Amino acid sequence: MEMANVKTIEQGFCSLCGRALLPNEGYLNLSAGSHICSHCIGKIRVMHPLTLTWDKKGNEVRHDPIEALSLEEAGRDLENAIAFTEELRAKYDHHNAVFMVESVTTEKGGFLKPQVIYACGRVVYGYFDPQDKARLLHKGSASDVTLSGITKLASYGASKYPCQGTGGIPCALEFSGKNLNCEAGDLIVKD
Ligand SMILES: [Zn+2]
Repeated sequence: MEMANVKTIEQGFCSLCGRALLPNEGYLNLSAGSHICSHCIGKIRVMHPLTLTWDKKGNEVRHDPIEALSLEEAGRDLENAIAFTEELRAKYDHHNAVFMVESVTTEKGGFLKPQVIYACGRVVYGYFDPQDKARLLHKGSASDVTLSGITKLASYGASKYPCQGTGGIPCALEFSGKNLNCEAGDLIVKD
């Protein structure tokens, strides 16, 4: 326990809220060398979506716009995050949560079961959890879907990894159903 304490102190404290930075929770370095904690990152992530690409070897490369912020900018964003989300909500018909589909991967379902759809994209705002009832909005039609999982992008089948489906996070929403059409540009919403 003594060691754990030393480690916590070595990581320092969040420059925005003062919380101790815990190595297992993750934190970010801002442009001028200050650090912010996972809680503060989570609050402003909706304003600064994370994007992922893959290098030639297939390794994930994170592009995180929060790392380019100054401490002053991050502090201002933290104050404005709720108003920012409310503006998005007004823009998207006041749904509780909105997911933007950017690409779709499908897998065969089991015997006599419908295909499994992985809608890949990002959470625009709000949050999605496994077992959530949501609606797939495709070209003017709406289908009810029950999410079976929220997974990291490019992780499927036996090697899929769960992911938090919160505002600004790239991930895949997994669901299945008969005669569902899902493609880039569709929205998945929760009310
Ligand atoms: Zn913090």
